[in-house]
Amino acid sequence: MKLTVIGCSGSGPGPASAASCYLVEHDGFRLLLDLGNGAFGSLLAHADPETVDAVFLSHLHADHCLDVAPFVVWHRYSGRSSGKRVPLYAPAGAERRLALAYDGADADLTDVFDFADVTVGTSTIGPFEVRTARTAHPVECHAVRLTVGGRSLVYTGDTGPSERVVELARGADVLLAEAAHPPGPGLPTGLHLTGREAGEHAAAAGVGRLLLTHVPAWVDEIGQLFTASAVFPETELVRAGATYDV
Ligand SMILES: [Zn+2]
Ligand SMILES: [Zn+2]
Repeated sequence: MKLTVIGCSGSGPGPASAASCYLVEHDGFRLLLDLGNGAFGSLLAHADPETVDAVFLSHLHADHCLDVAPFVVWHRYSGRSSGKRVPLYAPAGAERRLALAYDGADADLTDVFDFADVTVGTSTIGPFEVRTARTAHPVECHAVRLTVGGRSLVYTGDTGPSERVVELARGADVLLAEAAHPPGPGLPTGLHLTGREAGEHAAAAGVGRLLLTHVPAWVDEIGQLFTASAVFPETELVRAGATYDV
């Protein structure tokens, strides 16, 4: 499968990237993981929105879901949509949350999206076998493992240290892991990983490669890379626009 980083800035858009959004493709099927603020514009540089076959939202924090709004606008008003409904997998409550983000509680987005709750367990989206796990985060958030053709990509979504995420990532070829917290004391628990913790999760899960993402604009990304690499050498920092063969 092919992974394209549409947006990788943690906790909000940054000067060099939109917030979280990843395009995963296999055999002509296009799945978007998250659609954070700023990501719709960046998506246009990589894919016609009409060609997006499904959307998976890890959770409903703004930096992972707000650009559902321009996605809806495009489908309704660009004159370029075929009118197909796009399956949207998200935690329970997404329909109301995204309606409020669009223009109010009465907004009905079901002309664009076919909403489905993400449940923990195994399912399929297009060609991908999908497994999810609840992460350590203040709101319902799902890490996701996509498998196709014997290859696996795991995306953590947002998480603090989590054995469930390690289990989900066990033996995966690529772990796309958030590293939002800088090292140091005084940070809230159960929210995000430090670079070192991302490296520790990759090592514990025995993955092939660690891709660090979701570093906020105000955190030293080289420091995050340095501390993760010290624990797990096969680590790199993703950039908006980068592509990876998984
Ligand atoms: Zn986030
Ligand atoms: Zn979050």
